[in-house]
Amino acid sequence: MSQVTPDVPPDLADKRRLPENEHFCFGCHPDLPCFTRCCADVNILLTPVDVVRLSRRLGMSTTEFLDTHALLPITKDLKLPTVMLKMSDTEDKRCSFVTEAGCGVYEDRPWSCRMYPVAMALPPARVGVEPKPIYFLLEDGFCEGHEEPREWTVPEWREDQDVAAREELEAGFREIVSHPWFIGGTRQLDPKRLDMFFTACYDLDKFRTFVFETTFLERFDLEPALVERMREDDDELLRFAFRWLKMALFGEPVLKVRDSAKTARRTA
Ligand code: SF4
Ligand code: SF4
Repeated sequence: MSQVTPDVPPDLADKRRLPENEHFCFGCHPDLPCFTRCCADVNILLTPVDVVRLSRRLGMSTTEFLDTHALLPITKDLKLPTVMLKMSDTEDKRCSFVTEAGCGVYEDRPWSCRMYPVAMALPPARVGVEPKPIYFLLEDGFCEGHEEPREWTVPEWREDQDVAAREELEAGFREIVSHPWFIGGTRQLDPKRLDMFFTACYDLDKFRTFVFETTFLERFDLEPALVERMREDDDELLRFAFRWLKMALFGEPVLKVRDSAKTARRTA
């Protein structure tokens, strides 16, 4: 009888699981005949950090980047909006960023490109349980990197691909998508809140306008030093966006509302 594993998305159900200390062989370099073959006709989910890094790399606002380089797939099972990298319109659907010499945005390449051939799933939220990522090995037939002799564990691979360094920032996003509010899998955010989620997580420049060019700072009592850091630093603004979402989506009292804003609401 096959084992039921409800934590695993269907597209990963038949992949080899990688416990943290298990080794796999892999190497990727320009001398392999498959070099850049993986950079075409591929589904690459973008994280909020990916969107910001790629936008800055290309000298675009996040709004322009999303309009030009992203797809927003909609399926009936989707609880939260996701963002995927749009492949080019050519017959082979190459990634817009691939060059003869490899990835043209290498230092800012998306999380999925860094992690390949390792994939990750996050189990659904459960009461009192910190969601722990589950890792898998993708063994695509076209990829010859699996024949290379060097051995890795998942933590070693993450370190080598500079994924660990983004971890603190990505953790704020995971806290939102795995929030206990979703436990049971039956609750659905309303369209207004889905829009808030999308803007705060993915369209950071639109979120910046919301914070700095509306009455936001009159309503919320934020430390002046934090406000200045948010003006200058994308990472600080993104960190704050995840914090704000805890209040805006789930009603957590993580921000202090100014007394004047409370009074205005009562007299309105
Ligand atoms: S080894 Fe795999 S990941 Fe590297 S270029 Fe070839 S197909 Fe892509
Ligand atoms: S972003 Fe870079 S690594 Fe990722 S698919 Fe495009 S070219 Fe390949």
